[in-house]
Parts: sequence; C-alpha cells; structure tokens
Amino acid sequence: ETNDLKSELLIIGAGPGGYVAAIYAAKKGLQVTLIEKEELGGTCLNVGCIPTKSLVKSSEICHNVKNSSLFGIKAETDIQVDMKQVIRRKDEVKEKLVSGIGYLMEKNEIQVIHGDASFLSANTVSVNGEKNYRISAKNIIVATGSKIAKVNIPGIDLPFVMNSTDALSCAELPKSITIIGGGVIGMEFAFIYRNLGVEVHVVEFMDRLLTMLDRDISEEIAHSAQQAGIHIHTNSKVSKIQRADDDQAIVTYEDAKGEHLLVSDKVLVAIGREPNLDGLEIEKSSIQLNERGKGIAVNKQMRTNVEHIYAIGDVTNIMQLAHVASHQGITAIDAILGESSEMHYSAVPNVIFTSPEIASVGLLEDECRERAMDYSVSKVSFASNGKALTMNESEGFIKLIKDTRSQKIVGGSIIGPDASSLISSLTLAIANELTEQQITQTIFAHPTTGEVIHEAAFGLGIGALHQA
Ligand code: FAD
Repeated sequence: ETNDLKSELLIIGAGPGGYVAAIYAAKKGLQVTLIEKEELGGTCLNVGCIPTKSLVKSSEICHNVKNSSLFGIKAETDIQVDMKQVIRRKDEVKEKLVSGIGYLMEKNEIQVIHGDASFLSANTVSVNGEKNYRISAKNIIVATGSKIAKVNIPGIDLPFVMNSTDALSCAELPKSITIIGGGVIGMEFAFIYRNLGVEVHVVEFMDRLLTMLDRDISEEIAHSAQQAGIHIHTNSKVSKIQRADDDQAIVTYEDAKGEHLLVSDKVLVAIGREPNLDGLEIEKSSIQLNERGKGIAVNKQMRTNVEHIYAIGDVTNIMQLAHVASHQGITAIDAILGESSEMHYSAVPNVIFTSPEIASVGLLEDECRERAMDYSVSKVSFASNGKALTMNESEGFIKLIKDTRSQKIVGGSIIGPDASSLISSLTLAIANELTEQQITQTIFAHPTTGEVIHEAAFGLGIGALHQA
C-alpha cells in the first residue's frame, strides 16, 4: 500500500544540512516534510563531528591524568582505559542530541518520515520504509550527505581494517594502529589513540599532513605529533594490507627509499568521503552533477538546474563541513522564499581537533601568493601568553594575514590552545572585513589565549607588544 502525500517543501536527509533547513523553513512558515533513512542528525551527530569530539575529550582526560603530577596533583599511576565506557559515553552524548532534534521536529511541526527516498520524477519522490509513500512536492532539497569513499588497496576487507564509523564503535582499545591518511579524520584519530596510550603510525601519500592548511601549520602539527610519539610517514603510498600468522595486520607502503612494513593490531582507513547519491535515482529528476561528476551542481542560492530542486551539504561536494551544510540550508530556504541571499565561502572556519587544536579561516598564505596579492603576515607564538603557560599548553602560534592595500584582515590560522573557540572571533573579523587597526583598538580580556590575536594584529603594524 502506498500513501499519497503533498508537501510544500520536501527535504531528503536529516543531517546538519537537512534538519537545520527544516527548522528554519518551518519557522518561516513553510509546511515541511523531512525524510531520513537512518537517524536524525546524519553523519555529523551519529558517526562524525560529535562522536569524534566525545572521544577526543576522553583521550585528553587520559593525557591530563598522565601529566597531572606536573600540576602538583598525584593521581593513580596505573592508568587504565575502559574503552567500553569511552564508547558508552560517546553514545549517550549522541543519543541526547539525536532525541533533542526529534523534539525540535515535533515542536516545529515538521513531518518526519523514516525510509529511503528516491525520485520518481522532478516533482515526485517515493519513500520506502515501514510505510510507503508517494510524495508530490512543490520544492525539494536534496541533503543526502556523503559516504566513505571506496579504495582499491588489496586486503582492505580484512577483519582488522576499520573505517571511521567502525572505529567509533570499537570498544576494544588496540595496542597499536596504522592509520592510512593524514587528513582531518586520520589526524584526529591519531591523537585520540595516542593520548589513550596506543602506538600510532600515520601513512600519508602527500608530502605533508593536512594539505588544506598552510605549510607552516602542517609542519607544526607534524612536530607536535612526533613529540607525542606518533610516527608519521609522508610521501608514502600504501600498496597492500596482509594478515600475519598471529592475526596482526601488516601494512606495506612505498616511499623513495623502497618498501616498508608496519605491523599493528588494527588499521584505520581515513582517505576521504564522497557525495552520497545511492538509491536516489536522480536521473529521474533531471538534476545534473558538477563537472567532475561528483556531487550535485548548484548555483550560489543552492539551486540545481531544475528550478524547484535544491541541493545542500556534502552531496554538493563543495566543503565537507557541518556548519557549511547548515548555512547552505538556510540559503536554500531564503531562495525558496524569494529572498536574495547567496552563499559566500570567503570566511568559513575550519577546525581540526588534534592536540593542539588547529583552526583556520579566510585565505591561506599560499592562496594570497597565487593571487599575487600585496599582503603581510604576522605570526605570534603562545609561548609568551600567560594563560597558555598556566595551562601548560604554550606550543603553537596565531598567524594573521592582511591585505596591505585595504589594511583588511583576509586570513588567519591558529595552532594552539583553544583554537576551536578562538577562530570564531577571527571569523567575525574576516566576515565583517575588519582592519588590523580595528582589532588592535579592541580590548581583549586578560589573561586569555585570545590575547594572542590582539598581539598578532599589533604584529601587522608596529610589532607585537610582548615580543622582543
Ligand atoms: P549528512 O550529515 O551525511 O546527512 C545526510 C543524511 O541523509 C544521512 O542521515 C543519511 O542517512 C540521509 N540519507 C541519505 N540518502 C537518503 C535517502 N535516499 N533517503 C533518505 N535519507 C537519506 N564536520 C565538521 O564541521 N566538524 C567536525 O568536527 C567534523 N568531524 C567529522 C568527523 C568524522 C569522522 C566524519 C565522517 C565527518 C566529520 N565532519 C565534520 C563532516 C560532517 O559530518 C559533514 O560535513 C556533515 O555531516 C554534512 O552534513 P549533510 O547534512 O550534508 O549530510
């Protein structure tokens, strides 16, 4: 039996793109139907941002307890990690948030349907779940997110090989792990495992870690990783994974010097995600993919080539970030309501939860160089920051880039304590085109790590006050 429904706005996928768009649309008076085949919250809440950060917290506590005597606190010497409880706590955090979204859906009178959505035509979508529906919709937003990219490494299906989703539910702490991929997900897990006492190797194909960042930031995090005891192998290509007689994993990689073997309990493959169009039958909707054939092509209002169909979030393959997905959702709703907002990507913060944390926003130094801009750079370290020293986290620096013609701050990177929070003020500065002077004239609280932003702004002019 198929139930026929009509909807003013149909959203496919309830990740941070789809569910935020649904709430915003409902608040703006639209009648919304939201379809989700798994859990509300999507990748971000269930197997992405939130669960990883919950593990980051557990691992930081482990690290802090190990170092507690430095602070004058004598804690237990025999530290044990109860990985089952680490995972249980992560699940509790996730469940709290997922049920919170359910509550928000109810309060905003959003009709949530659980099931698999696929296009029947440009206006009609079928949903197969416990009940089956055929929904004709005036406007449709595709927010089906991304999936783990497939890789062709021989041995990838061996039982000790995990992807990020497997790792998030692995309640057994390995003694050693080889992580394939030194990108965001790989590096977050590298520090999670290392801080929990695991021996970690990271194998990266490129010549440096975290290639989306400026080179000096990559170098600084590689240094921190090495100090923490993480083994980094760059310029290295994994050729195969095998099982040893004692069931250990053997990862073979090649670099300029030849072939090398790494033996470990587990292998984590973290080499990327790609747009998820599985089962959608988008050909029936006539919407087109972007030129690389990956992801749905959209304009600045998130509209596809079909007038009433929009796409937002990871499925567009523009930027794989939860806050970008949400903002694109809001932009799409504005477009549906005939408002003129457009997406701009010049001030999107990007945070990586390593130890220390990394965050960046706006232009990178490399980008300024490529654009042949007149720019200047100021770099101030946390070493002389009082608050950072009290925290025993004085490694790292803040870097600001200014356009010397306009005096405006166009980019900023932070590697160091509180980077994930500090980036918000740099984002406000760049989004609102503040100048170096407007920052130096602002009063920053003392003692805080944010004072380094103030110092870095002085560094663009007369020089940082607390640096010789
Ligand atoms: P998703 O969150 O992927 O949601 C899409 C939803 O659509 C899913 O729930 C899916 O079940 C549903 N769906 C798909 N197809 C159908 C269908 N045919 N019918 C019905 N439902 C369907 N980003 C950050 O900004 N910060 C972080 O710290 C961060 N950490 C991450 C850590 C990990 C390990 C991973 C994997 C990702 C992380 N991300 C992070 C990325 C972030 O999770 C994504 O950018 C974000 O979830 C994208 O949101 P979305 O709404 O586009 O898609």
